[in-house]
Amino acid sequence: MNDCVFCRIIARESHADVEYEDEAVLAFKDIYPKAPVHLLIVPKRHVASIMTMEPGDVEILGRCLLAARVIGEAKGLAERGYRLRVNCGPEGGQVVYHVHVHFLAGGRERGV
Ligand code: AMP
Ligand code: ZN
Repeated sequence: MNDCVFCRIIARESHADVEYEDEAVLAFKDIYPKAPVHLLIVPKRHVASIMTMEPGDVEILGRCLLAARVIGEAKGLAERGYRLRVNCGPEGGQVVYHVHVHFLAGGRERGV
């Protein structure tokens, strides 16, 4: 999977500003932030998309959501909140085919 940009980041072959890590999950800053806080939370095991996820992927994707909670609390956002977004497929705006949860905070983002 070394043609996958996020697998390269997980393998530390490419640089990223890592903000959170556990045995299943890595979270790092988006290089083109769309909100004052914009992280990408990714499973360490390559799963291309929600559109191809399988029952065996449920645990690691749930771990990504649990990581969001930990990150939100660590950043003092537990009260104010944040937005989690998963883009799925071409018309869903997915560009990188290693599933990722956008963690967006800071109050400027609007929309559904
Ligand atoms: P998506 O459109 O949901 O596939 O989102 C992909 C996101 O990955 C975009 O917000 C990009 O800015 C971000 N991105 C792409 N390459 C990198 C990278 N090397 N490091 C950090 N973020 C990246
Ligand atoms: Zn990957």
